[in-house]
Amino acid sequence: MKCPNCGQEMIDIKDFCINCGARLKTEKEGISLKALLLIFGLIIIVTIIACYLIMHYNEKKEIEPYLNKNAITEKE
Ligand SMILES: [Zn+2]
Repeated sequence: MKCPNCGQEMIDIKDFCINCGARLKTEKEGISLKALLLIFGLIIIVTIIACYLIMHYNEKKEIEPYLNKNAITEKE
């Protein structure tokens, strides 16, 4: 691995360059950041889908509660 700042060749992967002290992006950090963004994105998508389904479910329930009796199995 080479330092992107000064080009110092490094044997061990460290957070900081031993030559110039520049902060290095380790592979581990890249994966965790990617995973964090992925999880954050998934939470947003799931929340949007959940809101959409809840809204439509309530709407349908109010309009036609007896027509789709087989679809709605919720006890009241
Ligand atoms: Zn360096």
